[in-house]
Order: sequence, then C-alpha cells, then structure tokens
Amino acid sequence: MHSNRRSGPSPALTAAASHSDVLIVGAGSAGSVVAERLSADPSRTVTVIEAGPDPSEPGLLAQTANGLQLPIGAGSPLVQRYETQLTDRPVRLAPIVRGAAVGGSGAINGGYFCRGLPRDFDRTAIDGWAWSDVVDHFRAIETDLDFTGPAHGDKGPIRVRRTREMTGVTEAFVSAAQRAGFGWIADLNDCGPRPVSGVGAVPLNIVDGVRIGSGAGYLIPALQRPNLTLLARTQAMELRFDGACAVGVDALGPQGPISLSADRIVLCSGAIQSAHLLMLSGVGDEAMLRAAGVPVVAPLPVGRYCSDHPEWVLPTNWTVATGRPVLEVVLSTDDIEIRPYTGGFVAMTGDGTPGHPDWPHIGVALMQPRARGRITLLSPDPGVPPRIEHHYDSEPDDVAALRRGSELARELAGAATHVGSPQWATSQHLCASAPMGVDGDPRAVVDHRCRVRGIENLWVIDGSILPNITSRGPHATIVMLGHRAAQFVG
Ligand SMILES: Cc1cc2nc3c(=O)[nH]c(=O)nc-3n(C[C@H](O)[C@H](O)[C@H](O)COP(=O)(O)OP(=O)(O)OC[C@H]3O[C@@H](n4cnc5c(N)ncnc54)[C@H](O)[C@@H]3O)c2cc1C
Repeated sequence: MHSNRRSGPSPALTAAASHSDVLIVGAGSAGSVVAERLSADPSRTVTVIEAGPDPSEPGLLAQTANGLQLPIGAGSPLVQRYETQLTDRPVRLAPIVRGAAVGGSGAINGGYFCRGLPRDFDRTAIDGWAWSDVVDHFRAIETDLDFTGPAHGDKGPIRVRRTREMTGVTEAFVSAAQRAGFGWIADLNDCGPRPVSGVGAVPLNIVDGVRIGSGAGYLIPALQRPNLTLLARTQAMELRFDGACAVGVDALGPQGPISLSADRIVLCSGAIQSAHLLMLSGVGDEAMLRAAGVPVVAPLPVGRYCSDHPEWVLPTNWTVATGRPVLEVVLSTDDIEIRPYTGGFVAMTGDGTPGHPDWPHIGVALMQPRARGRITLLSPDPGVPPRIEHHYDSEPDDVAALRRGSELARELAGAATHVGSPQWATSQHLCASAPMGVDGDPRAVVDHRCRVRGIENLWVIDGSILPNITSRGPHATIVMLGHRAAQFVG
C-alpha cells in the first residue's frame, strides 16, 4: 500500500515532496486543520513538517486518545519543554510544555473545549473576524452531542460532550456556588453576547474517555490523500527568503538537514515556536535581532505582546477522583474562572512517585489579564530556546483580581476543606506572539488574512496570531482559526 507518511524524508527526497504548493510548519491544533482543508483540493500538493513523532509509532495514539490523562510527565515523547519567568518581583521560574505531536498541544491537553466569547472577536474590529464571521467555523469543527440548534454543529470531526454525572467534589462545589448566588450555565459554548456569571459543565472534546483533537479529527484521516505528505520528526530551523519573499524552509529531519521549498509557506508551530522561527529568520524587533546576531529581514514586534491566563493554584485536601476528566465544571465571573480540578498533578499526568501525596487543586485564572509577556531571541542557534517571560505581576489590577478570586474560591470550598496558600502558575495558554491587527496597528505582525506584514508568501495560522488571549481557554478558538484561515492561503 502506498504510504505518504514518513518519519522523516529519505536522502532521496522526491522532487514532489521537496517542492510543494503549500508547506505547513507544524501539525498542531491549527496546522492539522489547515493541512486537511488545503489538501482537500487534489490538485494542490501540501507538505507538513512536524517536530514530533509520526502518530503511527507504537503506543502514541493510545496516549493522545486517553482523555483522562495529560501525557506530559517526565520522559513524555510528546512534548517540548521550556522554562518561563512567571513573575519578576520576586522572580518565579516555572517549567512549561507544548505538545509536539500530530494535533500539537491539543493532543495532550486537558480537553476543555470552550469557544471564546463574542466580545473577544468583536472588540478587535478586524475585518473578517467579528463573531458573526467566526461562529459558522466554530459550528463546522464540532459535533456537539449535548445541544442542537443554530449555535451548534452536528457534522464536524471534533465531538463535544459535557460531564453529567459529576464527582462528589464537583457536586459539592456546584452546590456551594449556587448557594452563593451563582446560576447554572447550561451551555458554556452558547451564553449570548454578554459574559455571564455562573457555574457550568465544561464542554470537553473527550467522549467516553477518548480525546479527539484536530490531529485525530482532521489530519490523520486525510493522510491517505496522495497530495498530502507528513514529514514527522522534522524540525524547521530557518525560513529562506528571496528578497522579501519566503521561498523555503531549512529543516532537520531524522536523517539530517533538508531543504524544502514551496509557493506558499504557513507557520503553524504554536505561539513559542512560530515566534522563534520568525525571529531566527530575521523577522522581529530590530534591536533584539541585532543583539542576537541575526540579520534583519523585516522589523516587526514578534514576541513583544504575548498574552496568557495567569492562574493561582490552591491545594486542597479533597480526595483525588481517578478516571475522570481533569475538569468537570468551571465557575465564571466577569474576569475570573474558578476551576475545581478533579485530581492533582499525579492523577492528571500519571507521572508520580509512589506514596507521594497528590493534592487536587482549585485553580483561579484571570481570563482577561492586562499583563503582557515577552519572547526574546537570545541566539542565532535554533537549539538555544528563546527567553520567555510572562510578567504576570506587572499589573497591580491583575494581582488584585487574582486575590479576590482566591478568596471566593476559598469561600466556595467551605470551612470543612483545608485550602493551602495560593501559588503562582500559568494555564499554559500562551498566545499573541505574532498578533493580527488592522492596518497601522503598531503591535500587528500579521494582517487580517494572516499574512506576515511586508513579506510575500508567508502566513502564520496558530495561537500566535490571536490579538489577545481569549476569555476562555484558547484551544477551541485556535482550531476554529485554522478552519477560518485556511481559505486565505488559497
Ligand atoms: C499542558 C497543556 C494543557 C492545556 N489545556 C488546555 C485545555 O484544556 N483547554 C484549552 O482551551 N487549552 C488548553 N491548552 C492550550 C491549548 O492546547 C493551546 O493553546 C493550543 O493547542 C495551541 O495550538 P497551536 O496550533 O497554536 O499550537 P500547537 O497545538 O502547540 O501546535 C504546534 C505544533 O507545531 C510543531 N512544531 C513546533 N515547532 C516546530 C518546528 N520548528 N518545526 C516543525 N514543527 C514544529 C509542534 O510539535 C506542534 O505539533 C493547554 C496547553 C498545554 C500545554
């Protein structure tokens, strides 16, 4: 049987694979959808390079399909690890991960699949990205098993379901929230134009314990197409330009360096890696590029205005619920999301030392933070990671909101629960490292059609281009973004 899947190109990489109509860098949450959409036209050759392993490697699909765990523990072959500086005063460092697999971070994440809110789109006033422009794409990617009607899709590959039979701790949390005056939100993916406060079941892209992200839902079924080639374990190192036109990518595959060319190049490597790749290739802040020893191709504010959800985690003495999604409900207020996790890190990742206690946490996340983080290129060597700083404590109003949220969380946990002191953490939702913006926006790296400003033939389609972090977790929005933006690569 012909297979167009490779775990890396052979030295005799065929001419067809070394030059494509479209070259996609990263088969992640957005990239998997972009690849499927663009290769639906059989006359278009599409090559996808992915740093992570081929999904056909033994055991990997079972790990990404198991929606009751996040396969991110020590030794996981499915993640790339980084360090970030969460706060500056004092300096608090934290490890973060990104998925490195077909499906990207969406193949290893918590399965919370909540749409951004209408205000997230409407307030940016970017042509073609109002709520009314994107809602059909949210519908297209999903099959909602709980709700029908105009807000929901019934034909998309990503199946969405909410937990009905909650664990005891979740039930107690919901009762406490309702006693405190918070209403039940029946459908967090259809709550109307204004943000509402209340508690509701999390829409999950986990059905009967099986996680279906865009790798499993979009890219893997499309791999049988003869015009679509996946080069796994292949890491893009640098973009090649002819003047201001992107013409190719230098990459490192399992058998060594390779050079690929394409008429159109689409970066879908996620907020850290798309930014890193742009900067390594000379697209970024001029002074930063010069300091790192990289010649400037296009001066653009890559990595300057990153955005993420800061989270304070409060350890509790709740009993760990095993074999459950990590989060069954959330409580939403205007700016805070309170998350009563069903397990601690060991239960979530399966990565524990026997006998080590595993405390379920309550997470308190700020959903529209003012603080902006930064990604900085340190070296022209692609093997040297960029510096990542969240600057979470740079905005006193953010810190005050997190404190208020923690007090509310403590109140809801009740006097019978022991709740420890909050610790700074991140929701690992980093976005906006190459934001989209209207003409004249000094923060914008890409235009409304996802094209890198001042460069021909180069698009970025992933979480990097969100102008701000969404008011909900970003995964559903980024999958939608892949579906919406694929048509712009035409
Ligand atoms: C542990 C964790 C849990 C999370 N939980 C949730 C959740 O429950 N709900 C939610 O809404 N959000 C969650 N998120 C965030 C969400 O999953 C991500 O924001 C989203 O998946 C990012 O999508 P993306 O397309 O931008 O990038 P990714 O999905 O990360 O895809 C990028 C892809 O590009 C590949 N790549 C990177 N660099 C290169 C290169 N140089 N060459 C070739 N390939 C490359 C990577 O291997 C990866 O496959 C979580 C994130 C993490 C890390």
